[in-house]
Amino acid sequence: MRIGFIGLGNMGSGMAANLLSAGHDVVVFNRSPEKTVILAERGATAASTVSAACDADVVITMLADDPAVEEVTFSAGGIVDSLAAGAVHVSSSTISVALAERLTTAHADAGHVFISAPVFGRPEAAAAAKLFVVAAGPAGPIASLAPVFEALGQRTFAVSDEPKIANLVKLSGNFLIASVIESLGEAMALVGKAGVNRQAFLELLTSTLFDAPAYRVYGGLLADEQFEPAGFAAHLGLKDARLMLAAGEQLEVPLPIASLIRDRFLTLLAGGGRDLDWAALGAVARWEAGGPKPGT
Ligand code: NAP
Repeated sequence: MRIGFIGLGNMGSGMAANLLSAGHDVVVFNRSPEKTVILAERGATAASTVSAACDADVVITMLADDPAVEEVTFSAGGIVDSLAAGAVHVSSSTISVALAERLTTAHADAGHVFISAPVFGRPEAAAAAKLFVVAAGPAGPIASLAPVFEALGQRTFAVSDEPKIANLVKLSGNFLIASVIESLGEAMALVGKAGVNRQAFLELLTSTLFDAPAYRVYGGLLADEQFEPAGFAAHLGLKDARLMLAAGEQLEVPLPIASLIRDRFLTLLAGGGRDLDWAALGAVARWEAGGPKPGT
């Protein structure tokens, strides 16, 4: 399949590489063009415009946030202008439910198919083709995209024929991860201040009642205070908390813990933690308890 891939950041670079490894014909575009070089060396075609990356059966976007996806999709020479009739736009970014609705309508009006396929898994999982793909949109195209999703991840969940539902599910999952990071950080601040070894505490948790990837991965990053380089930056975590709250407001679902998480991210960013890994959210509790500022 000929695939356009737009957005070669922490996640997209590994994803595009795996599409190449699976034998797809891949044309890559990135705003900062130097990130295309390594993929071109592996056989990708480097496009110098979004429009050139749309000369494909499917174009996948893995961009930072709503403004980035809006710019690449809706501006002149963007995806809506450039994609051939019947071609597919797969959006894998974690974006708002509202933007997914807008993308669905705009692509339908232009004769394209729009699929939301956000993913769970950090950059290491993206590089190892171990992502979990949450796909939503029309069933036929999702089935046709199976070889693409299989090249990217270990399992695909088709959750709805409405694309925006995948985004709602993804945001809800990230809200749970952030809740784990915050509560684990509070517990570690408490036991740590009393002199308990934080690694040993984590070992106890993950060997007993909390044997789950979220506790293991984020507990490890917290215990080691390993926040740089960021696999997933704190400012993107704040973005997800904001989008979760917007979805709650739209559906009139109060989300009191999500409100708290948003404020905790603001505390982290106000303290200079914008570009730290979002695991640093859990280090705010230790900082407030007289410990070091996250990232120092
Ligand atoms: P990232 O490393 O910051 O990469 C962001 C990408 O978006 C880069 O290619 C960047 O281009 C591009 N971009 C940003 N603003 C743009 C604009 N206005 N116009 C064009 N391109 C623009 O982010 P990431 O960690 O790969 O995350 C990408 C998406 O996946 C986000 O929605 C994130 O929430 C989601 N996600 C991340 C993870 C994770 O663990 N990192 C896991 C699951 C989902 P430049 O290179 O030019 O800056």
